[in-house]
Amino acid sequence: MRIETPKNRGQVSLLSKILLFVFIAMLPLLLSSPKSLTASRGMDRVNGVKILVLNYHKVDNQNISLSVLPKDFDRQMKYLKDNNFHTITMDEMYAALTEGAELPENPVVITFDDGYDDNYKYAYPILKKYGFKGTIFVITSFLDRNQPGYITWGQAQEMESSGVINIESHTVTHSSMTEQTDEQLRYEMAESKRDIEQRLGKTVGFIAYPTGTFNLHIASLVKEAGYKGAFTIKYGNVDRASNLYALERVPIFHTEDTYRSFLERLQYVPVFERLGWIKS
Ligand SMILES: [Zn+2]
Repeated sequence: MRIETPKNRGQVSLLSKILLFVFIAMLPLLLSSPKSLTASRGMDRVNGVKILVLNYHKVDNQNISLSVLPKDFDRQMKYLKDNNFHTITMDEMYAALTEGAELPENPVVITFDDGYDDNYKYAYPILKKYGFKGTIFVITSFLDRNQPGYITWGQAQEMESSGVINIESHTVTHSSMTEQTDEQLRYEMAESKRDIEQRLGKTVGFIAYPTGTFNLHIASLVKEAGYKGAFTIKYGNVDRASNLYALERVPIFHTEDTYRSFLERLQYVPVFERLGWIKS
Protein backbone atom coordinates (compact mmCIF):
# COMPACT_ATOMS: atom_id res chain seq x y z
CA MET A 1 0.00 0.00 0.00
CA ARG A 2 1.25 3.40 -0.91
CA ILE A 3 1.43 6.00 1.77
CA GLU A 4 0.91 9.51 0.60
CA THR A 5 3.47 11.79 2.12
CA PRO A 6 2.93 15.54 2.27
CA LYS A 7 5.65 15.83 -0.39
CA ASN A 8 4.01 13.73 -3.13
CA ARG A 9 0.58 15.08 -2.26
CA GLY A 10 2.01 18.46 -3.17
CA GLN A 11 3.18 17.05 -6.51
CA VAL A 12 -0.21 15.50 -7.26
CA SER A 13 -2.02 18.71 -6.58
CA LEU A 14 0.50 20.71 -8.65
CA LEU A 15 0.05 18.29 -11.56
CA SER A 16 -3.73 18.54 -11.41
CA LYS A 17 -3.46 22.33 -11.28
CA ILE A 18 -1.27 22.29 -14.40
CA LEU A 19 -3.69 19.96 -16.21
CA LEU A 20 -6.64 22.12 -15.24
CA PHE A 21 -4.81 25.24 -16.43
CA VAL A 22 -3.93 23.64 -19.78
CA PHE A 23 -7.54 22.50 -20.20
CA ILE A 24 -8.92 25.96 -19.46
CA ALA A 25 -6.36 27.59 -21.77
CA MET A 26 -7.34 25.24 -24.61
CA LEU A 27 -11.09 25.62 -24.07
CA PRO A 28 -11.70 28.44 -26.57
CA LEU A 29 -9.88 26.45 -29.27
CA LEU A 30 -11.72 23.25 -28.45
CA LEU A 31 -15.08 24.97 -28.56
CA SER A 32 -14.63 27.00 -31.72
CA SER A 33 -15.59 25.78 -35.17
CA PRO A 34 -14.71 27.83 -38.28
CA LYS A 35 -18.35 29.00 -38.30
CA SER A 36 -18.20 30.38 -34.78
CA LEU A 37 -14.86 32.04 -35.55
CA THR A 38 -16.48 34.02 -38.34
CA ALA A 39 -19.45 34.86 -36.19
CA SER A 40 -17.24 36.13 -33.38
CA ARG A 41 -15.28 38.50 -35.61
CA GLY A 42 -15.62 42.10 -34.55
CA MET A 43 -14.64 41.76 -30.94
CA ASP A 44 -11.53 40.44 -29.32
CA ARG A 45 -11.22 40.21 -25.58
CA VAL A 46 -7.67 41.60 -25.51
CA ASN A 47 -7.61 44.28 -28.17
CA GLY A 48 -11.25 45.27 -28.23
CA VAL A 49 -11.89 45.43 -31.94
CA LYS A 50 -11.03 43.28 -34.95
CA ILE A 51 -11.21 44.72 -38.43
CA LEU A 52 -10.82 42.69 -41.59
CA VAL A 53 -9.06 44.67 -44.31
CA LEU A 54 -9.32 42.94 -47.68
CA ASN A 55 -6.73 43.76 -50.33
CA TYR A 56 -7.51 43.43 -54.03
CA HIS A 57 -5.63 44.61 -57.11
CA LYS A 58 -7.38 43.95 -60.44
CA VAL A 59 -11.00 42.89 -60.87
CA ASP A 60 -11.36 41.73 -64.46
CA ASN A 61 -11.34 38.67 -66.71
CA GLN A 62 -7.58 38.16 -66.95
CA ASN A 63 -6.41 34.75 -65.86
CA ILE A 64 -3.70 35.91 -63.42
CA SER A 65 -3.48 35.67 -59.64
CA LEU A 66 -3.59 39.48 -59.23
CA SER A 67 -6.93 39.64 -61.03
CA VAL A 68 -10.13 38.43 -59.38
CA LEU A 69 -12.84 37.71 -61.98
CA PRO A 70 -15.83 40.10 -61.78
CA LYS A 71 -18.20 37.16 -61.20
CA ASP A 72 -15.98 35.93 -58.34
CA PHE A 73 -15.78 39.42 -56.85
CA ASP A 74 -19.58 39.63 -57.01
CA ARG A 75 -19.89 36.25 -55.26
CA GLN A 76 -17.46 37.36 -52.52
CA MET A 77 -19.38 40.59 -51.91
CA LYS A 78 -22.63 38.59 -51.79
CA TYR A 79 -21.05 36.29 -49.17
CA LEU A 80 -20.11 39.33 -47.05
CA LYS A 81 -23.61 40.78 -47.42
CA ASP A 82 -25.36 37.48 -46.61
CA ASN A 83 -23.12 36.90 -43.58
CA ASN A 84 -23.74 40.27 -41.99
CA PHE A 85 -20.40 41.93 -42.72
CA HIS A 86 -20.46 45.74 -42.82
CA THR A 87 -18.05 47.83 -44.83
CA ILE A 88 -16.62 50.75 -42.88
CA THR A 89 -14.64 53.77 -44.05
CA MET A 90 -10.99 54.46 -43.26
CA ASP A 91 -12.07 57.23 -40.89
CA GLU A 92 -14.47 54.93 -39.02
CA MET A 93 -11.66 52.39 -38.67
CA TYR A 94 -9.30 55.10 -37.41
CA ALA A 95 -11.84 56.40 -34.85
CA ALA A 96 -12.39 52.87 -33.55
CA LEU A 97 -8.66 52.25 -33.19
CA THR A 98 -7.75 55.58 -31.63
CA GLU A 99 -10.85 56.63 -29.67
CA GLY A 100 -12.69 53.34 -29.22
CA ALA A 101 -15.60 54.51 -31.43
CA GLU A 102 -18.36 51.93 -31.95
CA LEU A 103 -18.27 49.80 -35.09
CA PRO A 104 -20.97 47.70 -36.74
CA GLU A 105 -20.84 43.93 -36.42
CA ASN A 106 -18.18 42.18 -38.58
CA PRO A 107 -16.47 45.37 -39.80
CA VAL A 108 -14.63 45.06 -43.09
CA VAL A 109 -12.53 47.56 -45.07
CA ILE A 110 -12.25 46.79 -48.80
CA THR A 111 -9.10 48.10 -50.49
CA PHE A 112 -7.73 48.04 -54.04
CA ASP A 113 -4.09 48.83 -54.82
CA ASP A 114 -2.69 50.61 -57.91
CA GLY A 115 -5.92 52.12 -59.34
CA TYR A 116 -6.57 49.82 -62.33
CA ASP A 117 -9.35 50.97 -64.67
CA ASP A 118 -11.17 47.65 -64.11
CA ASN A 119 -11.85 48.85 -60.56
CA TYR A 120 -14.03 51.55 -62.12
CA LYS A 121 -15.57 49.23 -64.73
CA TYR A 122 -16.31 46.18 -62.54
CA ALA A 123 -15.63 46.60 -58.81
CA TYR A 124 -17.30 50.00 -58.37
CA PRO A 125 -20.75 48.94 -59.75
CA ILE A 126 -20.65 45.68 -57.74
CA LEU A 127 -19.83 47.52 -54.49
CA LYS A 128 -22.64 49.96 -55.25
CA LYS A 129 -25.07 47.08 -55.88
CA TYR A 130 -24.44 45.66 -52.39
CA GLY A 131 -24.39 49.06 -50.68
CA PHE A 132 -20.70 48.60 -49.83
CA LYS A 133 -17.80 51.05 -49.64
CA GLY A 134 -14.18 50.67 -50.69
CA THR A 135 -10.87 52.48 -51.00
CA ILE A 136 -8.61 52.71 -54.05
CA PHE A 137 -4.93 53.54 -53.46
CA VAL A 138 -3.81 55.39 -56.61
CA ILE A 139 -0.38 56.05 -58.13
CA THR A 140 -0.79 59.76 -58.87
CA SER A 141 1.72 60.12 -61.74
CA PHE A 142 -0.22 57.40 -63.65
CA LEU A 143 -3.42 59.45 -63.39
CA ASP A 144 -1.56 62.67 -64.21
CA ARG A 145 -0.38 61.25 -67.53
CA ASN A 146 -3.51 59.19 -68.32
CA GLN A 147 -1.55 55.94 -68.21
CA PRO A 148 -3.52 53.29 -70.17
CA GLY A 149 -4.98 50.57 -67.92
CA TYR A 150 -5.46 52.92 -64.94
CA ILE A 151 -8.38 55.08 -63.82
CA THR A 152 -8.49 58.73 -64.85
CA TRP A 153 -8.90 61.71 -62.52
CA GLY A 154 -12.43 62.07 -63.93
CA GLN A 155 -13.31 58.51 -62.87
CA ALA A 156 -11.64 59.06 -59.50
CA GLN A 157 -13.74 62.20 -59.02
CA GLU A 158 -16.95 60.41 -60.03
CA MET A 159 -16.32 57.48 -57.67
CA GLU A 160 -15.25 59.71 -54.78
CA SER A 161 -18.35 61.93 -55.09
CA SER A 162 -20.63 58.86 -55.18
CA GLY A 163 -19.58 58.08 -51.60
CA VAL A 164 -18.86 54.47 -52.64
CA ILE A 165 -15.14 54.86 -53.27
CA ASN A 166 -12.56 56.71 -51.22
CA ILE A 167 -9.35 57.62 -53.04
CA GLU A 168 -6.10 57.47 -51.02
CA SER A 169 -2.38 57.45 -51.86
CA HIS A 170 -0.16 54.71 -53.28
CA THR A 171 2.64 57.28 -53.86
CA VAL A 172 3.60 59.20 -57.01
CA THR A 173 5.63 56.55 -58.89
CA HIS A 174 5.12 53.22 -57.06
CA SER A 175 8.89 52.84 -56.46
CA SER A 176 9.90 50.54 -53.64
CA MET A 177 10.35 52.74 -50.57
CA THR A 178 13.24 50.85 -49.07
CA GLU A 179 15.43 51.87 -52.02
CA GLN A 180 14.90 55.62 -51.86
CA THR A 181 16.60 58.56 -50.17
CA ASP A 182 14.68 60.48 -47.51
CA GLU A 183 14.26 63.33 -49.97
CA GLN A 184 12.65 61.01 -52.54
CA LEU A 185 10.46 59.40 -49.88
CA ARG A 186 9.22 62.77 -48.66
CA TYR A 187 8.37 63.74 -52.23
CA GLU A 188 6.47 60.47 -52.92
CA MET A 189 4.44 60.89 -49.74
CA ALA A 190 3.75 64.64 -49.80
CA GLU A 191 3.26 65.13 -53.53
CA SER A 192 0.79 62.25 -53.98
CA LYS A 193 -1.21 63.53 -51.00
CA ARG A 194 -1.19 67.10 -52.32
CA ASP A 195 -2.14 66.03 -55.87
CA ILE A 196 -5.18 63.95 -54.76
CA GLU A 197 -6.30 66.63 -52.30
CA GLN A 198 -6.12 69.36 -54.90
CA ARG A 199 -7.80 67.37 -57.68
CA LEU A 200 -10.57 65.83 -55.59
CA GLY A 201 -11.05 68.50 -52.90
CA LYS A 202 -10.68 66.09 -50.00
CA THR A 203 -8.22 65.25 -47.24
CA VAL A 204 -5.96 62.25 -47.81
CA GLY A 205 -5.25 60.40 -44.59
CA PHE A 206 -3.92 57.03 -45.69
CA ILE A 207 -1.25 55.47 -47.86
CA ALA A 208 -0.49 51.91 -48.96
CA TYR A 209 3.21 51.04 -49.24
CA PRO A 210 4.09 50.14 -52.86
CA THR A 211 4.92 46.40 -52.98
CA GLY A 212 4.27 46.40 -49.23
CA THR A 213 7.90 47.12 -48.33
CA PHE A 214 8.62 49.55 -45.51
CA ASN A 215 10.60 49.90 -42.29
CA LEU A 216 10.23 51.91 -39.08
CA HIS A 217 12.13 54.88 -40.50
CA ILE A 218 9.83 55.00 -43.54
CA ALA A 219 6.81 54.70 -41.22
CA SER A 220 8.04 57.71 -39.23
CA LEU A 221 8.33 59.76 -42.45
CA VAL A 222 4.74 58.77 -43.38
CA LYS A 223 3.57 60.13 -40.05
CA GLU A 224 5.63 63.29 -40.52
CA ALA A 225 4.01 63.79 -43.96
CA GLY A 226 0.63 64.08 -42.23
CA TYR A 227 -0.89 60.66 -42.84
CA LYS A 228 -3.05 59.02 -40.14
CA GLY A 229 -2.15 55.49 -41.15
CA ALA A 230 -0.39 53.23 -43.66
CA PHE A 231 -1.22 49.79 -45.02
CA THR A 232 1.19 46.92 -45.56
CA ILE A 233 0.61 43.47 -47.04
CA LYS A 234 1.35 41.88 -43.65
CA TYR A 235 -1.27 39.13 -43.29
CA GLY A 236 -3.67 39.60 -40.39
CA ASN A 237 -6.57 41.54 -38.90
CA VAL A 238 -6.30 45.10 -37.65
CA ASP A 239 -6.92 45.63 -33.94
CA ARG A 240 -5.81 48.04 -31.19
CA ALA A 241 -2.43 46.29 -31.00
CA SER A 242 -1.78 47.19 -34.65
CA ASN A 243 0.78 49.84 -35.53
CA LEU A 244 -1.19 52.58 -37.36
CA TYR A 245 1.72 52.89 -39.82
CA ALA A 246 1.97 49.15 -40.43
CA LEU A 247 -1.66 48.06 -40.75
CA GLU A 248 -2.35 44.44 -41.66
CA ARG A 249 -4.41 43.27 -44.64
CA VAL A 250 -5.77 40.02 -46.02
CA PRO A 251 -4.85 39.71 -49.72
CA ILE A 252 -7.44 38.09 -52.00
CA PHE A 253 -6.16 36.42 -55.16
CA HIS A 254 -7.50 34.54 -58.14
CA THR A 255 -6.70 30.86 -57.50
CA GLU A 256 -7.71 27.41 -58.78
CA ASP A 257 -10.78 27.80 -56.56
CA THR A 258 -11.07 31.51 -55.82
CA TYR A 259 -14.24 31.26 -53.73
CA ARG A 260 -12.85 28.55 -51.49
CA SER A 261 -9.56 30.47 -51.01
CA PHE A 262 -11.59 33.56 -50.13
CA LEU A 263 -13.61 31.71 -47.47
CA GLU A 264 -10.46 30.13 -46.03
CA ARG A 265 -8.75 33.50 -45.79
CA LEU A 266 -11.74 34.98 -43.96
CA GLN A 267 -11.92 32.11 -41.48
CA TYR A 268 -8.29 31.25 -40.89
CA VAL A 269 -7.07 34.67 -39.86
CA PRO A 270 -8.54 34.55 -36.35
CA VAL A 271 -7.18 31.03 -35.85
CA PHE A 272 -3.66 32.07 -36.79
CA GLU A 273 -3.89 35.05 -34.47
CA ARG A 274 -5.33 33.05 -31.62
CA LEU A 275 -2.44 30.64 -31.84
CA GLY A 276 -0.03 33.55 -31.73
CA TRP A 277 1.41 32.84 -35.18
CA ILE A 278 0.97 36.38 -36.39
CA LYS A 279 1.23 39.05 -33.73
CA SER A 280 3.35 37.42 -31.06
ZN1 LIG B 1 0.91 48.49 -55.72
